[in-house]
Amino acid sequence: MFAHRLPDFQKTKYARCTSTGIKLNAVKLKAGRYQRQLRLGNPALPAEIPKLPERPAEVQTSGAPSLGVPATHSQMSSRRATGLDHRVLAQPTEVFMNHRVPAHKRYQPTEYEHAANCATHALWIIPSILGSSNLYFLSDDDWETISAWIYGLGLCGLFVVSTVFHTISWKKSHLRTVEHCLHMSDRMVIYFFIAASYAPWLNLRELGPWASHMRWLVWIMASVGTVYVFFFHERYKLVELLCYTVTGFLPALVILSMPNTEGIWELLTGGVFYCLGMVFFKSDGRIPFAHAIWHLFVAFGAGTHYYAIWRYLYLPSTLQAKVSK
Ligand SMILES: [Zn+2]
Repeated sequence: MFAHRLPDFQKTKYARCTSTGIKLNAVKLKAGRYQRQLRLGNPALPAEIPKLPERPAEVQTSGAPSLGVPATHSQMSSRRATGLDHRVLAQPTEVFMNHRVPAHKRYQPTEYEHAANCATHALWIIPSILGSSNLYFLSDDDWETISAWIYGLGLCGLFVVSTVFHTISWKKSHLRTVEHCLHMSDRMVIYFFIAASYAPWLNLRELGPWASHMRWLVWIMASVGTVYVFFFHERYKLVELLCYTVTGFLPALVILSMPNTEGIWELLTGGVFYCLGMVFFKSDGRIPFAHAIWHLFVAFGAGTHYYAIWRYLYLPSTLQAKVSK
């Protein structure tokens, strides 16, 4: 009987805790000898709902569920619908972190993780606009102005697109096509951001005859990465990571070969932030708030690189250090 009524549960988008207002995207149901785990509102819901072990010790048989979370309206109606005695439990790990998903599926953040993902990039939108404007007003010639525009668009674009994507993914996840397009844009903008971060260095510093080709090669790499995301988004995650790494590191070799090495240490520090962040980028479901931590590392890396660009390429006191355009 329970198996027959199971789709009724799945129609419920999510359960919301009446005391905290937190959506519970994972609940445990106990119905007679059947215990199944439902991920309500989770797009990563497995085709076959796994069976839980028989009567785990923490399942309560009476009273409010653990963590002081009372049964919600939808949970109560679910109980009425089945007429079976089952209790709903919220797991501590499912508040701050959901279960890890297979490589071909997308991790579903918890409510807190969604909020953190939005906040950790939204916070930097205004500073990045102000910072980019600052570079624009410090520009002395056309190349500096163009570089300030490119870098500014890359910097602001990264935080804006990321914030919009994470907000839609959190609040409007039922708009699947919009969310999918924004997810692709979120990945594409990273390539544009990498190329834009190198642009001021490549455009405003003296480079050797071979190294100067990196001025356009970096944009070719970013375009290839963007096309790759368009066709194979989320399909081969290791290849995706490899594309980001090549686009991120290859121009660094050229930068390291510059006659003028001012700002190299800041560039390396920023690169270390990005590399450390990658560990968290790949740790969804292993470390709580892993994606938000990745966002913070991106912000620290971008901040360090901005400082280097501002100080060594645009600040009037270092005007003499500018070698050629
Ligand atoms: Zn993100």
